[in-house]
Amino acid sequence: VTRHQLVVVGDGPAGLALAHHTHQLGVDTVVVGRGAPWAATYGAWADGSLGAYEAALAVTAATVAVGACEHRLQPRYGVFDNEQLRSMLAAGLTIRTGHVAGVQHFTWGSRVLLADGGHLDGAVVVDASGSQPVLAEPSATREPPPMQTAYGLVLDERPQVAGDGVVLMDWRQPQAGAATFLYVVPLPDSTWLVEETSLATNTPPPFGELRSRLAARLGADLTANALHVEHVAIPMRPRIPSLDQPVVGFGAAAGYVHPATGYSVTASLRAASRVAAAVDGAIREPDPRRRARAIWHEVWPAEARRVRALHDFGLRALLDLGPHAGQFFDAFFDQPTERWMPYLRIDATVGEITAAMRAVFRAAPWPVRRRLALRNPSALTRIVR
Ligand SMILES: Cc1cc2nc3c(=O)[nH]c(=O)nc-3n(C[C@H](O)[C@H](O)[C@H](O)COP(=O)(O)OP(=O)(O)OC[C@H]3O[C@@H](n4cnc5c(N)ncnc54)[C@H](O)[C@@H]3O)c2cc1C
Repeated sequence: VTRHQLVVVGDGPAGLALAHHTHQLGVDTVVVGRGAPWAATYGAWADGSLGAYEAALAVTAATVAVGACEHRLQPRYGVFDNEQLRSMLAAGLTIRTGHVAGVQHFTWGSRVLLADGGHLDGAVVVDASGSQPVLAEPSATREPPPMQTAYGLVLDERPQVAGDGVVLMDWRQPQAGAATFLYVVPLPDSTWLVEETSLATNTPPPFGELRSRLAARLGADLTANALHVEHVAIPMRPRIPSLDQPVVGFGAAAGYVHPATGYSVTASLRAASRVAAAVDGAIREPDPRRRARAIWHEVWPAEARRVRALHDFGLRALLDLGPHAGQFFDAFFDQPTERWMPYLRIDATVGEITAAMRAVFRAAPWPVRRRLALRNPSALTRIVR
């Protein structure tokens, strides 16, 4: 039986990104995944933080956000060409198609069990199987997480709504009801995605309501004309799992989901080389538990854990904004790019996050400040002081 140095479970963006970097470092790596296409549209900022992966952003365009007024945003924003990104990451990798069903731990490492009766042995096993991880234990939560939901249509041309380019969020409300926003982005095959999105909430509006709000914006329900209909439901408030477990998590499986946006792909792409270096360093450690722990601490370094606590606080404030969300984002996008952009990254510094929070709080109108302060006034005072 071949014993690999690293078995990566999951052939999504996170699993392949990590494997790409460990392979480059000479770590004997095998990926196991279902081989399913990447169906989601991954949006990202062309902000220079993605290095070579920026070449896989198929279309980037000038972007606006609209609250009570319009903000022209820099840098440009775009959508990955999933096939191009996947082939960049998968080049040279050993990928086995299979369905992972379980894991067993031994003194030498771990055995990944496949549903077809086969197995793969590794000194280290990384679970990158997405937000419902198959092997890594997510942190236990008592309440269901808030959900970000969206109803989207892929259309063969851009509908006449909110200008002619990318719309990150348009908070002008098309009708009464829960506050939702419009998202418009061009896709790699020259089609357009238009989406009515409800930011994280404990009471997400039903898809039927999102559909009718989108129809109200577009002047008609274009569902019948759509090339594809997208129903998005992303669980938010992703917890940091226990860092003391034998299977290391990565990507959404490790809680790499931004508590405000639901995005995770760029965070995984940026973290992959750092975590790969930790894998490379840890495989020389004889005790498998210590190996796993050393890597976990690079998946979630102390600074990133502190940032997550601040983002969780920010999410709780967002949940309370209700009809004031547009005014909040006016204050947010009124800030210079270098102030608001780090807030959208899970790998920013504590200083960058608190500076963004402080600036937005100071710029926000009183009704928004009151809402932001409502839940946890003492924590907010510490942050904005
Ligand atoms: C409609 C939609 C739109 C989104 N838009 C964005 C966006 O614009 N930007 C962004 O960053 N994020 C977005 N997200 C969130 C994003 O999809 C996920 O956060 C991202 O896919 C996580 O990447 P990952 O590689 O960690 O996990 P996944 O993409 O979930 O990949 C996990 C892989 O593991 C495989 N797998 C799972 N279980 C097993 C098993 N038992 N055995 C073998 N293989 C297995 C799966 O087949 C899958 O390929 C969106 C989500 C949705 C639903």
